[in-house]
Amino acid sequence: MLSGLITMRRKLVAGNWKMHGALTQNAELLDAVRSGMVTMPGVDCAVCVPFPYLAQAQQKLSGGAVKWGAQDVHQLDKGAYTGEVSAAMLRDFGCSYVIVGHSERRAYYGESSHLVAEKFLAAQRVGLTPILCVGESLEQRESGITEEVVAGQLDALIQLGGVQALRNAVVAYEPVWAIGTGKTATSAQAQAVHAFIRQRVASHDGKIASGLCILYGGSVKANNAAELFAMPDIDGGLIGGASLVADEFLAICRAGART
Ligand code: PEP
Repeated sequence: MLSGLITMRRKLVAGNWKMHGALTQNAELLDAVRSGMVTMPGVDCAVCVPFPYLAQAQQKLSGGAVKWGAQDVHQLDKGAYTGEVSAAMLRDFGCSYVIVGHSERRAYYGESSHLVAEKFLAAQRVGLTPILCVGESLEQRESGITEEVVAGQLDALIQLGGVQALRNAVVAYEPVWAIGTGKTATSAQAQAVHAFIRQRVASHDGKIASGLCILYGGSVKANNAAELFAMPDIDGGLIGGASLVADEFLAICRAGART
């Protein structure tokens, strides 16, 4: 926690559906999340759905408290890039958020931190809020280089876009070893990395650092969310598996509203 700068940051809980969903089951999930959030004014909530379901998310969630977004975006505004989706296209479907640099994209599609930074800036150019994912593998943690890895991922954005790119931005710390494994980082482990991220940004600009929303992601469930969200530098969560179950996801949002 940065001393001397007191900023009340609102909690954000964002779901990442990954490559899951089908029209009928999505409809039930979106309806349940929408109606559950009506009674929870103290927290922001969003679901990041696969591209084909953006229209459905827009139709189901428009006018409610739950925002929606996508899980990836192309770094360029338009062009001959078959199969790709631009930030302006996401905006056309009412997206507020887009995840960039998820560890699965870094691992399976070879996305570099520089490319992720380009995607981040492309999303910002059209007014979307990108959620920049950073985090270390188990091997990197065991070798004691967690901070070095996270710093490199963060610095790539600062180098390309300047620290200004992080004004009112969202970063998600997701230790790779905790994603989808049921192994959550302890609240102390997560807090230590979150504080490191905030300090690193503060070395460029203290005000931007204190306004930065830093989510934790990695096996967050209803039964561990409150403890994580109570930490001073944890501003909410990026939720994978548990975002596919309405009651579980809403319970996590409730934990965000309380802390
Ligand atoms: C994620 O997909 O970003 C994630 C954190 O997944 P899970 O919550 O299932 O670990």
